[in-house]
Amino acid sequence: MADCLFCKIASGEIPAKKIHEDAHAVAFEDINPQAPTHVLVIPRRHIPAFSALTAADGETLGAMAAAINAIAAERGLTPDGFRVVCNNGRAAGQTVDHLHWHLLGGRDLTWPPG
Ligand code: 5GP
Ligand code: ZN
Repeated sequence: MADCLFCKIASGEIPAKKIHEDAHAVAFEDINPQAPTHVLVIPRRHIPAFSALTAADGETLGAMAAAINAIAAERGLTPDGFRVVCNNGRAAGQTVDHLHWHLLGGRDLTWPPG
C-alpha cells in the first residue's frame, strides 16, 4: 500500500534493521525496544490488522510463525520463553495499520499486560 510505513520497510524504501526476509514475511528490530529482544514480524503483503485475517491467509501466517521461532531459537529465547503480541485496533494499542507481531524476550515478562 502506497502510504504504509511497514510496506515501505518491507520493500526497502525506508531503512530498518532487518533480521529475516522471505517470500511472505519480513522481520526487523523495533525502533523503540521494550525488551532485550524486540522484533517486529510482518507479512510482506499489506494486511491492515489481525482482524482482517481469514483462513485464506494460512501460508502467510505460517511463514510469520516460522520466522518468529527461528529468531527465538537463534537468540537463545527457546526454551526459557518469549512473548508474541499482536495489538489489534486502537483500544489495544495498535499504532501502525499493517499487521505485525511483536516478539519480546530476554527478560522476565509480567502478566497481565497493561
Ligand atoms: P503497535 O503499537 O502498532 O502494536 O506497534 C508498532 C511498533 O512499531 C512500535 O513498537 C514502534 O516502536 C514500532 N515502530 C514505529 N515506527 C517504526 C519505524 O519507523 N521503524 C521501526 N523499526 N519500528 C517502528
Ligand atoms: Zn502496509
